[in-house]
Amino acid sequence: MRGRFAPSPTGPLHLGNLRTALVSWLQVQCARAPAGGEWLVRMEDLDRVTSSPVHEAGQLADLAALGMVPDGEVVRQSERFALYHDAISTLRATGRVYECFCTRREIQEAAAAPHGELPEGAYPGTCRQLSAAVRRRRLAEGRPPALRLRAEGERYTIDDLIAGRYAGVADDVVLQRNDGVPAYNLAVVVDDAAQGVTAVVRGDDLLASTPRQLLLHDLLGLAHPRYAHVPLVLGPDGQRLAKRHGAVTLAQLASRGLGAGEILARLGASLGLCTPTDVVDARTLAAGFAIERVPRTPWRLDSDDV
Ligand code: GLU
Repeated sequence: MRGRFAPSPTGPLHLGNLRTALVSWLQVQCARAPAGGEWLVRMEDLDRVTSSPVHEAGQLADLAALGMVPDGEVVRQSERFALYHDAISTLRATGRVYECFCTRREIQEAAAAPHGELPEGAYPGTCRQLSAAVRRRRLAEGRPPALRLRAEGERYTIDDLIAGRYAGVADDVVLQRNDGVPAYNLAVVVDDAAQGVTAVVRGDDLLASTPRQLLLHDLLGLAHPRYAHVPLVLGPDGQRLAKRHGAVTLAQLASRGLGAGEILARLGASLGLCTPTDVVDARTLAAGFAIERVPRTPWRLDSDDV
């Protein structure tokens, strides 16, 4: 088994990110001998404006403070554009790529129409059938196109290790933004395959993106990983955990006197592995862990937790 945690280095990890990392790490630790497991960290820093090496170093230090150290070199998406461009060329050669000149606003307006089985916000296909003449005109006007996948209504059913069975239809996902930067959904597929990842653990906000990623795996001839989507962590107000909720990072919790062991005990308790006051380290949590028993409902923090 090869697992990975793939954060975007755009800020310090919060309890929700750390909990997802812990689930991924524990899953790998529980892979039994003789095959065993390996756990990797990949920095999803495609967006050079929001990502920074300072956050990358901080995130790695926080993971290590909780006992999670990657088994191989940390990979950075910003250094792998050639791989993503090759994958786009492969898709182009099969006629599965088209140029999209729509602005964000045009997409929002068109996507507001009913979208049937397609995921929320799915692209309505405006540029799928542009004539060569219109494309030339748009290019001449200086509008740089994004590149989209031409999906054909492919449907996928996922047996998620935590979320259970989930079915969805792949859509015309963006492969490359109109500034030339490869898109997350393409990069994640290329990287998971190139790194030999067999076990993807991530937040369940990405469950709906899994069908489009599986279609990309298939079109590129790449094996499917197994998925486990972890329910998100919510603040006391029931909203997705964020900075504004208070003390949500290791540094902030440390300034309130909470050490790594205490934070691990809280994370472990949220996974049903210990009580919040136990003295634990990451290894002791592995003893009772089974990914199928990760709670299927979000973990909502109390106001005195943050
Ligand atoms: N980089 C994504 C995030 O930080 C995770 C992507 C993935 O695990 O597939 O939410």
